[in-house]
Amino acid sequence: MLIDTYGRVATDLRVSLTDRCNLRCTYCMPEEGLRWLAKPELLTDDEIVRLIDIAVRLLGVEEVRFTGGEPLLRPGLVGIVERVAALGPRPRMSLTTNGIGLGRTAAALKAAGLDRVNVSLDTLRPDVFKTLTRRDRHKDVLEGLLAARAADLAPVKVNTVLMPGLNEDEAPDLLAWAIEHDYELRFIEQMPLDAQHGWKREGMVTAGDILASLRTRFDLTPEDAGERGSAPAERWLVDGGPYRVGVIASVTRPFCAACDRTRLTADGQIRTCLFATEETDLRGALRSGAPDEEIARLWQVAMWGKKAGAGLDDPSFVQPDRPMSAIGG
Ligand code: SAM
Ligand code: SF4
Repeated sequence: MLIDTYGRVATDLRVSLTDRCNLRCTYCMPEEGLRWLAKPELLTDDEIVRLIDIAVRLLGVEEVRFTGGEPLLRPGLVGIVERVAALGPRPRMSLTTNGIGLGRTAAALKAAGLDRVNVSLDTLRPDVFKTLTRRDRHKDVLEGLLAARAADLAPVKVNTVLMPGLNEDEAPDLLAWAIEHDYELRFIEQMPLDAQHGWKREGMVTAGDILASLRTRFDLTPEDAGERGSAPAERWLVDGGPYRVGVIASVTRPFCAACDRTRLTADGQIRTCLFATEETDLRGALRSGAPDEEIARLWQVAMWGKKAGAGLDDPSFVQPDRPMSAIGG
């Protein structure tokens, strides 16, 4: 098991497949992009599959989420999914993507064994999309979403970050649109993980703001708290249900006490938390010929050192050096 000193057990593994991306979301990356990892620094497909095999066979991981950067930019993605689907025990598998290119790959990913997708979309307005992501690809994301639903990568979840002065007024429109298309909408509070270190707590759109905005058009009732489990999203029934909307209040209502995550970066580092300032190098161990049991032990030691919380409210909080795109959101 991957257990920490607070008794939390990590069963959910986030695997970043690349730090590169074809968008430049303002809350994530600077316009000019970042210094990308060089190919030799990246884990190979074989190394990724081996680490996931160790995680599910020796460490109790039950769920694998592929992310990035933009995971659809990884050439070997379909092959990796296929090989992970053949592992025993087979983990549940999902993908977090900006949706660009999903129109072409959704069916192949489903056939390879992917269970579902989360597509990130912050706005219904193409002009706002262009300002927010610095790319004119709104149409591609909508196509990707339709393809995901057609391929039955269900439930198709949509992740939305609201930014002050840009799309903060869109919460009710996004919810009406998501209900119409049967996408499960979740709002994520903006976190201090942008490469430019431009996040300001005073300016952010909070979970409270989002709920107040939704309530101008919808009746929201909290879902039974018992059903949240270790899921970061708090969920509300919309107009009595069955449709639900989620809010991930990482900043104003953190869920660290129930966290069940462990993270693997595209260059083979274990992170115990998005906000961790330390990493454990598994790539070095892999490439120096360590057996599976030793890699599993290194992973366990890393997780044992997991901190109680992200510490966003601690005056000593420092933003991690790695931005979200290089950690794997
Ligand atoms: N490129 C893919 C995508 O956008 O879905 C996967 C990686 S992205 C880092 C994963 C998720 O993190 C996205 O839903 C994105 O909106 C979210 N994200 C990125 N930067 C964020 C930030 N500073 N605060 C909150 N969420 C953020
Ligand atoms: Fe790319 Fe995702 Fe970051 Fe946007 S949030 S820049 S799509 S990695």
